[in-house]
Amino acid sequence: MIKIFPILCRAGTMDNYAYLLTDEKSQISAIIDPSEVAPIQKFCETQNIKPKYVLNTHHHFDHTDGNLALKNLYNVQIVGHSKDAHRIPGIDICLQEGDYFQLGESQAQIISVDGHTIGHILYYFANSQTLFTGDMLFNLCIGGIFEGTAEQMWQSIQKIKALPEETRFYPGHEYTRYGANEALYFSQNSEEVKKYLEQAQTHLQQGLPAGPYTLKEEKQCNPYLTATDFKEFVHRLNS
Ligand code: ZN
Ligand code: FE
Repeated sequence: MIKIFPILCRAGTMDNYAYLLTDEKSQISAIIDPSEVAPIQKFCETQNIKPKYVLNTHHHFDHTDGNLALKNLYNVQIVGHSKDAHRIPGIDICLQEGDYFQLGESQAQIISVDGHTIGHILYYFANSQTLFTGDMLFNLCIGGIFEGTAEQMWQSIQKIKALPEETRFYPGHEYTRYGANEALYFSQNSEEVKKYLEQAQTHLQQGLPAGPYTLKEEKQCNPYLTATDFKEFVHRLNS
């Protein structure tokens, strides 16, 4: 099993989440998407943790800007998709669809999800029922389609929907407030959306991430996951 600590980066501007993961048996740690070094270094020092890896979901600066500084500080090995090998700073380990990354006794399956970028990946820890979604899936919304096509994004969403429903997912930004507007626009009277937003509000008021939510909750509430076919998905993208 893995332990997960969210670390808010670029607070008040881009509201990125980096995550510190620790494999409980081996106590080996990794940082997912180090947006900037300062809050991560501070967190590692207070917890007395020296991370061994950085795991990047994609190449964007707000997910990789801390890479080289963490390499200098902790000599981390940096992991990303082989398609991003030329544009992830300091990359050491290149993975692709179907590969596994071993974090101590825990294992992450690499799921390739083109759309937001080409070369975006998810880290899926099946035994811990945990999924890190970067900028592909946020609470109640999805990432912008910058490098891929709507068709690729739709295919990527189907891959997420095929995972076990009890999986909890951890997105790359705190965008729940934007997502809430989209969910309410497409399904005003949904009881599930109401419950979802109650949890978000309670957590956010305490200064915590709105999530984590399960894929089951997301499939009931996220308008890009509830879209029944590609046509409806495109219509929602353009609304
Ligand atoms: Zn991005
Ligand atoms: Fe981002």
